Amino acid sequence: MSIHKAIFLDRDGTIIPDIPYLSDEKLISIPHSSILGLKLLQHLEFKLIIVTNQSGIARGYFKESDLHRIHNHLLFLLKNDGIEITDVFYCPHHPDDGCMCRKPSGYLIQKAAFKHDIHLSQSYMIGDKETDVEAGRNAGVKSVLLSNSEESTSHNIHEYSATNLFEAAQQIQELSKILSNS
Ligand SMILES: [Mg+2]
Ligand SMILES: [Zn+2]
Repeated sequence: MSIHKAIFLDRDGTIIPDIPYLSDEKLISIPHSSILGLKLLQHLEFKLIIVTNQSGIARGYFKESDLHRIHNHLLFLLKNDGIEITDVFYCPHHPDDGCMCRKPSGYLIQKAAFKHDIHLSQSYMIGDKETDVEAGRNAGVKSVLLSNSEESTSHNIHEYSATNLFEAAQQIQELSKILSNS
């Protein structure tokens, strides 16, 4: 059995711009920085796995079938750019549901790791919210917070910050070098 390392990626505000309750796949656009970042991470031999909260389903804004259509289109666009997404995990619940999977829970990351033989200690979570960082921490992976604000530098030592996915990928590249030399 081979053991892999992975990057767990938030979707909205991380891979694609955050359009609240996105339900139309035609609105999906992938910034160049995301393409470059994902390509670099893939080159570093990380599996790419999306972990996303989609409470729009519980709220009745869109159906699970709409979400699948959106994800199929997103994966299709990424594939056209040579990027392979290993899997997509989502929480369809409302924040008040008290479910076990909604980030900041680490449940979906751990579930993904179990399914795909992922070594968590060599893996990272990248997201644009504190809840993403917390989810990473809860699952036992290091996290990179995407933020355009200067406040994002006030994190503890296990967390890293970047302004876009390409910067985050470059940081992970540097960290991987340090880890493999130690
Ligand atoms: Mg987000
Ligand atoms: Zn859930």
